Amino acid sequence: MIDASTVLIALLGHPVEHSLSPRMHNYIYAHAGINSAYLAFDVSPEKLQDAVNGLRALAAKGFNVTVPHKQSVIPYMDSVDNAAAIIGAVNTVANNNGRLIGYNTDATGFLRSLEYHNIDVKDKSVLVIGAGGAARAVAVALSMAGARIIITNRTFEKADELANSISSMSSNSLCTAAPLNELKKLDSPYLLVNATSAGMWPHIETSPLPEDYDLSDVNVAYDLVYNPIKTTFLQEAEKSGCTVVNGLDMLIFQAIEAIRIWFNSDVLYDIAKNAVKDFA
Ligand code: NAP
Repeated sequence: MIDASTVLIALLGHPVEHSLSPRMHNYIYAHAGINSAYLAFDVSPEKLQDAVNGLRALAAKGFNVTVPHKQSVIPYMDSVDNAAAIIGAVNTVANNNGRLIGYNTDATGFLRSLEYHNIDVKDKSVLVIGAGGAARAVAVALSMAGARIIITNRTFEKADELANSISSMSSNSLCTAAPLNELKKLDSPYLLVNATSAGMWPHIETSPLPEDYDLSDVNVAYDLVYNPIKTTFLQEAEKSGCTVVNGLDMLIFQAIEAIRIWFNSDVLYDIAKNAVKDFA
């Protein structure tokens, strides 16, 4: 129940009305005994600084940041953690007595979802489609997990840029770029990740892959998109015999990680999953 001690957690994005996060967080808080309320705010880019200052003044415990503010919020942070600095984007902010610390839970959320599904990518080949913010976080996570990464993207130059940046992270990072129209020439990857928004509602008929791409030798197909829960890409992969994973678990593990950051509390996966069970 909301009372005078209830602390505020916010979501800043533009737009935000389709976000599952308020539903998931408020359900978790109620079931885990956390006295907090999570509210989504549609904040236009020119109001972002005012919104951040307002949350600081109101002593909000923290906030999530989503599209289009994940990069532009960084100048308003007092510090950012390592993962957020490498990824170049902040999606979770903790307010420690007026000091704002920026985190990025995309990479952790992705890695924990792989662990949950017993997908071990060490020394295995992984093809990532996409070169935006989510693809960067996924590539950083895969590099940390010791995968051999190939990045492809509709705009090839961005894939090339991302591959170079991941390769320069450490001498152990193995990351190259390949144009979409040359994927057929490559061996099938163990894991194929869609980190683009292709296939996301309302454009649900779109697939990120070339029409003639053969999925039959791919072991696992992972789509970061969770709306719809089974995208055209995952439907095609399932028909070809791949194990399929949708983006909902990554979202769940990100919520769990954010709650650990804000409240130092470990939430059980089952509670978080229950929050979105009618969605899945
Ligand atoms: P972003 O920075 O805007 O990047 C978008 C990417 O998608 C770019 O690579 C873009 O290619 C590509 N793209 C967009 N429309 C396309 C289409 N019709 N065909 C082929 N490629 C297309 O977005 P983002 O933050 O990386 O997010 C990407 C997706 O991941 C979104 O659907 C988001 O909801 C999802 N996501 C899920 C989670 C989760 O927890 N499950 C977390 C983060 C993100 P170009 O470079 O050619 O424009």
